[in-house]
Parts: sequence; structure tokens; C-alpha cells
Amino acid sequence: SLFRKGEALQQLEQTRVVAFDKTGTLTEGKPQLTTLVSFGSLKENEVLGLSAALERQSEHPIARAIEAAAQEEGLTLPAVQDVTAITGYGLQARADGQTVLIGAPRLMEHEGVDIKLADSVLTHMTQQGQTPVLIAVNTLLVGVIGVSDRIKPSAHKTIQALKDKGINVAMITGDTPATAQVIATELGISHVEAGVLPGGKAEAVRKLRQQFGAVAFVGDGINDAPALAEADTGLAVGTGTDIAIEAADVILSSGDLTAVVSALDMSRLTLRNIRQNLFWAFAYNVALIPVAAGLLFPFTGLLLSPMLAAGAMAASSVFVVGNALRLHKAGG
Ligand code: ADP
Ligand code: MG
Repeated sequence: SLFRKGEALQQLEQTRVVAFDKTGTLTEGKPQLTTLVSFGSLKENEVLGLSAALERQSEHPIARAIEAAAQEEGLTLPAVQDVTAITGYGLQARADGQTVLIGAPRLMEHEGVDIKLADSVLTHMTQQGQTPVLIAVNTLLVGVIGVSDRIKPSAHKTIQALKDKGINVAMITGDTPATAQVIATELGISHVEAGVLPGGKAEAVRKLRQQFGAVAFVGDGINDAPALAEADTGLAVGTGTDIAIEAADVILSSGDLTAVVSALDMSRLTLRNIRQNLFWAFAYNVALIPVAAGLLFPFTGLLLSPMLAAGAMAASSVFVVGNALRLHKAGG
């Protein structure tokens, strides 16, 4: 991992809680369509085609899953107009003179769409850790899509290693609370902030700081940038967006989360090393300066010749540098 600022190396050692973004950080960020249900007048493929027509214009990872599924089915997408993103909720558009909505359950609540019809499907999907995407035409629910994203293999051992160090672990996500809870439980994360709007991630970081102390936040997305900036240490996943990387203090070299643990270790070792060096350089001078001044001369006749004193001076520096260089082996 890369420390962009020296302070980050110092800050990271103080970390009391590590908070992770979910999508793209704890999970691969490449969701797949796993459920497709239609209600009312549309057939399943019509729901998928209409959804893909809107999602084609979105940059959200969910959009890629829906687009790919429609492509696999060889669907011809209907014409849609005025596609607008409702950040943190989903999309809105017009098709055939009708208003189409696609997005999270809270989008439907917000727009007054009755989703009772989907209750059991939603429960079933969220229990499996799928993210629910609902589709409505003229405020009538026409379908539900479920997407699921695999948890990164490195997530489990990273979270365990953090807990072993006595550090708290939290998750902050915009996803539906029920889905987020399933993923958190699987990973052994007890503190979950779910359903967070894009503007709310920094606020969630502040809440964690009040509760636990210094916060390190790990994220990858554009919407993670405020939280990365707010955290005491922001760590961007190397595979993340440029905006996240720009806002971070530490950049992990890949998507592999074990780098979070290495960065923490690096910070601890470096600071221990600096303290050791300060101590020994000081102790050395305290011991030898009086000798050089002739303290021992009346008793033993010992004097530090200028040549030996210069040698001692150099030896002190060699020790400090040598001790610091040991860190190289520890995995810089
Ligand atoms: P996250 O990065 O955690 O997914 P976002 O704020 O980007 O958070 O999105 C929050 C929620 O809004 C998503 O989990 C999803 O349910 C919904 N959403 C956002 N954009 C879209 C989209 N293009 N299509 C479908 N749902 C979306
Ligand atoms: Mg993300």
C-alpha cells in the first residue's frame, strides 16, 4: 500500500474502528442478476428489457448486471426518454408517454408506489443477501429484480485479523438494511449503517468516531469520497474510482483487503521504530557526553579522544538508520 501523506502513517496507529463500504469494497462490485419477477401486465422479459433500457444510461454497478442479463437474453430494448438518475435511489424515465421508475424500495416509498405485492419476494431475496431493485410504471409496481454480489475472499480473514487486534469493525452502505445485515452477519460485522444516502456516509463516520474513537474508512466509490475525507485515515481500494483515490490518505495496491491489515502493521512498526530510535539516540548522548567532558577522568583517567568521539557519533547515526532499515524487511 501507498501512504500519500506522512501523517497517515502516524494516524493509522490510533485507529479504534475500521469502517468498510460494502459494494465494491467488501464485495467484488460485479453484481449478477439472480432474481426476476413480474407483476401485473408485463412479462418477465418485458420487465428486464424496460429495466435495461433505463440502466443503459446509469453508471451504477447494478446497472451493469441488468444490462448484461438483457443482452444474454438477446432482448431488443424499448425506447426511453429523459432518463434521470436519482442519486442513492435509482432512476426515472419516460417510455411510451408513461413514467418509469427503477430502484431501491425507498424510491418506491418516496414516490408513493405500493409494494405490498412484493413483500414475500423481497423478504426471500434480502435473506439471501440480494439487493432488491423494483420497477414501477405510472406508480404501479410491475416487477422486481434481485442482484447479488460475491463477498471478496480476502474480506473474511481481514475482518478476523482486525478483531484479533482489538479493533472494531463496521460497515457503511447505501444498500437496503435487510440485505446489508445478511452480508454483515456472514462477515461477523456487528456495526452496520445501512440505507445511508450518498451525503450521509461522512455523517456515519462521525457517529462511529463518537462511539469508538479514531476511524479508518475503506471505500472505492465516488460516493465514498466524503467519508474518505472525513475519516481520520481514508483508505481507497486500488481498483476504485479516481475520485475515491484522490480523497484518500492511503491507497491499497489492489482490491485485496488484507492490505488494510498490512498498512496498520506498517504504521505500528514504524512508530515503534521511531520511538526506539529517539530513546537510544538520546540515551547514548546522555551517557557519552559527560564521558567526553571528562567526568570519568579523575577516577579512571578515561577521556574520549576526539577521534573516538567522532566514531561514537557516527555509530549512533548508523544505529538509528540501521534500525529504521529493518522495516524494509517487515514489508514496506
Ligand atoms: P451503494 O454504493 O451502497 O449501492 P448508492 O447510494 O449508490 O449506494 O445506491 C443506494 C441504493 O440505491 C442501491 O443499493 C440501489 O438499491 C439503489 N440504486 C442506485 N442507483 C441505482 C440504479 N442505477 N439502478 C437501480 N438501483 C439503484
Ligand atoms: Mg462501493
